[in-house]
Amino acid sequence: MSIESRVKHWIRSDIRAMHAYHVPDPSGYIKLDAMENPYTWPEEMVEEWTTLLRDVSLNRYPDPHASQLKSRLREAMQIPEDQDVILGNGSDELIQMIAFAMRSPSRAIMAPAPSFVMYDMIATFAGMDYEAVPLRQDFTLDMPAMLERIQEYQPAVIFLAYPNNPTGNLFKESEVVEILNAAEGLVVVDEAYHAFAGSSFMHKLGEYENLLVMRTVSKMGLAGLRLGLLAGPHQWLAEFDKVRLPYNINVLTQASADFALKHRQVLDQQTDELVENRGLLMQALKNLHGVEPYPSDANFILFKTHPGKADLIFEGLKERKVLIKNLNKAGGALKDCLRVTVGMKEENLAFMDALRETLGWVEHR
Ligand SMILES: *Cc1c(COP(=O)(O)O)cnc(C)c1O
Repeated sequence: MSIESRVKHWIRSDIRAMHAYHVPDPSGYIKLDAMENPYTWPEEMVEEWTTLLRDVSLNRYPDPHASQLKSRLREAMQIPEDQDVILGNGSDELIQMIAFAMRSPSRAIMAPAPSFVMYDMIATFAGMDYEAVPLRQDFTLDMPAMLERIQEYQPAVIFLAYPNNPTGNLFKESEVVEILNAAEGLVVVDEAYHAFAGSSFMHKLGEYENLLVMRTVSKMGLAGLRLGLLAGPHQWLAEFDKVRLPYNINVLTQASADFALKHRQVLDQQTDELVENRGLLMQALKNLHGVEPYPSDANFILFKTHPGKADLIFEGLKERKVLIKNLNKAGGALKDCLRVTVGMKEENLAFMDALRETLGWVEHR
């Protein structure tokens, strides 16, 4: 028996049919593809952090409950006192924990489409159905369709990215509430981009039996630490905590995130600057002939190119050493769409220069 036939025999066919999540090698590029915060810390802060790390015990298992970090997060994220919180190795791991605790063959995960790709991927890993309900042309929720599909499937969990990725918009608060009232299962409001948006469901926790709020520190400047949180009623979170692998938040992450959040004003200043940069970048894109940006409450901007030009523009930017995200191949509403992360002012200017050049070159082909 060859290794190929063994693999074919033993690995699930739905897994074999999948493509691994592809991350391009960014070396040498201006990296505007992954919604990272581009700023670094002041030198004194780096000094203080590295000094702190000297005392971290790598030979010991981490605090399994990450108690100190949790109380820091409660304060930083304004988690209501009567609500529980559990932590994940990135919010991706929390999505996985939810799916593992709720899965059964007849149960579905639901989300609008387009939305965050991990909802779909993790539903597949867990062997659950995935119900994608298309957004309207302007990326608002199609409420009649959402409510109809909720009635039809009563999904175990509905994920609503708020603001949505990759479209950048916030859904209407009243429509999210309508979904909360219509769903028998859980509704997870995924606030990965909360630092850049003016709206949140955190203060509504407890008002609805089926509302949970998920956040991550990734988009606010700590993507390398892999830390997400899920907040909500104790009754739900106590169950999810059972499928959490012990010690899932390592000692370096616990110490570093606690330290960074203690210096939250540095991170807040950086996110404020990114919001300002987003406004400038949005205006520049609006002024440019040949692209059409969509409104954004996040740290990225989705824009549409002329029909059939997105791949060429993406490649043209790459040749000019600027890496963004090509969503054209996702098809549907994302056909002809590219997504750029808001970077430092000089990075955004370099992106705009490269885009202007590329557009001129594409038009003359
Ligand atoms: C980036 C992102 C996440 C993942 O965050 P991690 O904590 O880095 O795993 C979750 N949800 C949405 C909508 C995102 O865009």
